[in-house]
Parts: sequence; structure tokens; C-alpha cells
Amino acid sequence: MKIYVDFDDCLSESARGFSDLAAQLFGIHVPYEEMRVFNLQTAFSLTDEQYARLLAEGHEPERLLSYEEVPGASEAVRELMRRGHEVSVVTGRPFSSYEPSRLWLDRHGLRDVRIWFLDKYGREIHRGENECCLDLDGFYRMKFDCAVEDSPSAFRLFDPLPEMKVLVFDRPWNRGYEFPREGYTRCPDWKTILGIVG
Ligand SMILES: [Mg+2]
Repeated sequence: MKIYVDFDDCLSESARGFSDLAAQLFGIHVPYEEMRVFNLQTAFSLTDEQYARLLAEGHEPERLLSYEEVPGASEAVRELMRRGHEVSVVTGRPFSSYEPSRLWLDRHGLRDVRIWFLDKYGREIHRGENECCLDLDGFYRMKFDCAVEDSPSAFRLFDPLPEMKVLVFDRPWNRGYEFPREGYTRCPDWKTILGIVG
């Protein structure tokens, strides 16, 4: 199977990092469990200026490298590859975060996993900047069979792919969301994902 794995909050505990950062920068304390919406500006009630600063500082290399691994994530990805699946990390991070993102994967034993940058949320255009940048056409040509994703904002990418299995990594911000079709399964952890993919 060709498997798409999202980076933030599927492999790394990024939202917890942003929650700590919002507290540090602005004194705004919104614990992880209370992050009921995916949009960080809304989740933390930030002004436009604060939001821009949060995103900029949250994507600083040292900070990206400091994000904890989601329990069992890297071992599960290696196990999927041992079982013969082709795993690609498909991230909505800006391409400017390529180096620390690549380094984080390498440091977590995922040197053999490719990373692709796809503008999932319409934040920027990075078409053709690098061979790791995917546009939507390129994404659909990859014909993934299965996706591991936490963000409801990314689910629209899967609308034209009715056969694709979507394994939704359970997070507070996707719990109130009604899945758009059959084929979506909520997964509390990587052990569950391994069991479903087989
Ligand atoms: Mg994510």
C-alpha cells in the first residue's frame, strides 16, 4: 500500500509545542485538551499580529527539532515499511522548514522515509521550488491508498479519492468533526493504525 503520513500531530507533538509557545510569548494558556479547533489563531484567540509571530517562531529550526515524538510513531512507520508498504510523509509545513523537518525524521530513525511539502491549507505557494514540493496534481498522481491525518482542514484533499482509507489520528480538534464519507476511521494511537493497515 502507498501510505500518506502527516507530520504535525501524527509524528510530532507540534500542537503541544505551539501551546507552550503561546503561553511563553503572550501569556495565553490554552492547554492541549482544550484546543477544540484546528486553527491556532482561533484556538488561542490571537490577533493577526500575534498569529503571524506564533507561526514564525513555531517554525524556527530549533523549535521544530525540539518537538517530542508521538508515542510509538517512528517505530510504527518502520514496521509499516518492513511489511512492504511505501510510506511518505506529506506535510503542510512551509517549504522553508525543510531542513529541520528532514533532520527531525533522520534523528528519529526515519532516514528512509521521503518527505513532501504540499500546500494543504492555502497558506503559500511553493510550486516547483524544489523536487520535494508537491502541487495538487502531483499529489493526486501519487495515488495513495491510505492517509494518516489529524487535521479536518486537510480532509478536503481526499474528496476526489473515494477509495482512500483515512485514518484520523484522534486529537481534541477533530473530535467534533463529522467525517465526510465512509472510509474514515478514528485512531487513538499508532498501535491501532498498524492493526488496521495490516
Ligand atoms: Mg497534522
